[in-house]
Formats: sequence, structure tokens, C-alpha cells
Amino acid sequence: MPITGRARLAGVVGWPVAHSLSPAMHNAAFQALGLDWVYAPFAVPPERLADAVRGLAALGFVGANFTIPHKQTVMDLVDEVSPAARAIGAANTLVFGDRTTADNTDWSGFLRSLRDVGCDPAGQRCLVLGAGGAARAVVYALASVGADVVVLNRSAERSAALLADLGQLFPAARLRSLPLAALADEAAAHPYLVVNTTSLGMVPRVETSPWPSDVPIPADTTVYDLVYNPLATRFLREAKASGARAVDGLGMLVHQGAIAFETWTGVAAPTDVMYKACLAYL
Ligand code: NAP
Repeated sequence: MPITGRARLAGVVGWPVAHSLSPAMHNAAFQALGLDWVYAPFAVPPERLADAVRGLAALGFVGANFTIPHKQTVMDLVDEVSPAARAIGAANTLVFGDRTTADNTDWSGFLRSLRDVGCDPAGQRCLVLGAGGAARAVVYALASVGADVVVLNRSAERSAALLADLGQLFPAARLRSLPLAALADEAAAHPYLVVNTTSLGMVPRVETSPWPSDVPIPADTTVYDLVYNPLATRFLREAKASGARAVDGLGMLVHQGAIAFETWTGVAAPTDVMYKACLAYL
């Protein structure tokens, strides 16, 4: 499918951005649907972010994704921030127009990926390991659908900050944080879902795991690792060996992209095509 003079434009802005799977994923989707659209990567340092946002708008881009380190600062550069992005404290998707709006599709992408694997956390006890940016999206998603969420993180300050922000939105009994030392007791209480939102296990530290080796992984739980490079992290391999169900982070990546794609194009995203395009690069 040729790119014509009428092509619609989208892209991803990060620093660095070369590792991003989004260009491959979105361009594969445009091609599969015969859409005259282009999605390009833009490496933009923090001090040029404001110029870049104004530039994309001036060039007539329909939308763009923003990744590390811009997810927080980009919210100060738009006309409108969605309630979810505001609550999570990060935006990854912009829509340009008369008013430029910022949204977060990580949380909704995470929920869609849970649905894909038949996981319904409503009313269930869920453990979230980590309290960084990705944890905020996951906690927001789980608490929004009525899960009981326990956050365990290495640094107490970061979990306290997460609780201080998101705790205003959800009943205290449904959203708690505990020290990492409580993990063994929490695991023994058979959580429905355990989500790793830390970067442990990701390349290059592939032999690290957020789960202590002396704590058995409950066999009746679903272990979800947000890390997708590699797909089979040490944590997921050990979860499988314990009899637990293992879910990798590629589903969330694809669905956060699919929701952005649908917002920009108004067309249902071909998630199977997007999934395959990512797999080719992993
Ligand atoms: P972040 O904000 O930097 O947070 C990192 C988290 O990892 C913090 O909770 C940090 O704990 C913890 N951590 C790091 N090193 C640790 C160690 N040695 N021991 C214990 N805890 C450690 O990063 P992020 O943006 O949330 O991203 C986290 C991971 O999620 C990355 O691997 C990223 O690729 C993945 N992710 C995946 C998707 C997806 O679509 N699948 C989307 C977003 C992110 P402290 O607070 O104690 O430092």
C-alpha cells in the first residue's frame, strides 16, 4: 500500500526511542486494514519536548504516543488531560486537534489483556509488585474494576506516594500497601492474581526476579509479568513450574497501542496483526 499525499500521521516520542515496538505494530495494522496512515519514531530529548508537541500539532499529526521519559511532563503541554491520566500521573497517548488532549491507555490496555486470558479480578485479591509508573496504571485498573489490591515495593516512599495519590479514589480497604517482607504471608493467602510491575527480569538483567526464591509461588494463582523482553521471564518460568498460570506483558503492550489506534482512526484495531508484528521483533 503506497503512502500518498493524503496520508494521516501518527508516531511515538521517546528518549531514546529506537527500542520501541510501536512503529512496527501500528504500521502493520495500517497496512493490514489498507489505511493510508504512517507511524514514525521520534527521539526527542526532554528539553525539546515542548517544541516537539507544538511541531507535531503544526504538522497536522492526528495523534502520538509518548514514552519514557516524557509520560509525566507531556501532561503540562496539552489543553486537556483525561481523568485516568490525571489519577495515574502519566499520559501515553495524545490526540491533536482544536484542543490537544492527553490520555493513558496503559491501564485500559492492561484490563483488555486480562479479558483476553479470561481473568476477571473484580472482587478478587491481587498483589502488585512494584510502585513505579507502570504499577500506577495497573493499580488504577484493578481498583477500578473492584479488585482488592495489595502493593508491595522495595522502597516504602514510592508505595506511600502511590497510595497517597490513588488512595483518594478508592476505599482504603480495597487498596493497601505492605512492606516486601509481607510477601510470604500474602502468597500463602492464595491471591487470585500477582502482577510484576518492576523491571526485574527484563533484559539485560534476565536472571533477576521480583519473587524471593524461598517463597513458593501458589499454584492456583495467575502470574502476570509486565516485562515483555524477554517474553518468558525467570518469574514466569518459575510460576509455570509451580503450576501457576503465566501471562506475559505483550498483551498489555498490544492493547495499549490498539486503544490509541482506535482513538485516532475510529476503526477496530487488528490486534492479532499487531501482536505478530511485535513478536517478529522480540
Ligand atoms: P519505574 O517507574 O522505573 O519503576 C520500577 C519499579 O521496579 C519500582 O517499583 C522499583 O522499586 C522496582 N525495582 C527496580 N529495580 C529493583 C530491584 N533491584 N529490586 C526491587 N525492585 C526494583 O518503571 P516502570 O515505568 O514502572 O516500568 C516497569 C516495568 O514495566 C518495565 O520493565 C517496563 O518495560 C514494564 N512495562 C511494561 C508495559 C507493557 O505494556 N507490558 C507497560 C509499561 C511498563 P523502587 O521503587 O524501590 O525503586
